[in-house]
Amino acid sequence: MTDHNSPQGIRAEAIESLLIDKGLLSAEVVDAVITTYTERVGPMNGAKLVAKAWSDPAFKADLLADATKVVNGLGFEGGQVDKLIVKECGLMDHHVVVCTLCSCYPWAVLGLPPAWYKDPEYRSRIVREPRKVLAEMGLELSPEVRIHVWDSSAEVRYLVLPLRPDGSEALSEGELEQLVSRDSMIGVTKLPSL
Ligand code: FE
Repeated sequence: MTDHNSPQGIRAEAIESLLIDKGLLSAEVVDAVITTYTERVGPMNGAKLVAKAWSDPAFKADLLADATKVVNGLGFEGGQVDKLIVKECGLMDHHVVVCTLCSCYPWAVLGLPPAWYKDPEYRSRIVREPRKVLAEMGLELSPEVRIHVWDSSAEVRYLVLPLRPDGSEALSEGELEQLVSRDSMIGVTKLPSL
């Protein structure tokens, strides 16, 4: 899976059209692949990383030090990542991800990007007025919390490690995984307390 505007992306689209024309591939199959990336593979992989990082300090240290190595070592169904950086939210620091140029996104861990992520309005405004945009999206951060905006590219993708929800102390890694939303890993929402 690649960017729409990369040579690989253009080639992929051309091959898809050709295969559909020749009757070798149906649009339904393509839709099924997209659904897989949207609803199954992607966000679940990211949630696994987050839940494991919350549960295992050594894993978290490795993830923050070199997420590319950790993710590629896990052999996720979504494929390899070229360069992935994980940013950990703290009480005084919030992280949010954008691609100001187009729609670069960590497919292997988050699946397909949501429509708003590709919207020119989000891409330009989150950089200029992140606090306001986040508030509009439902995330009110107090003025003393610093907001860090990370601009993705074809070379570097980012994943946000959200704060572990209050009240989740007794949960297992598997239960924690269920709490982690896609949007919390982009950084446009926080996970609610239990
Ligand atoms: Fe992009």
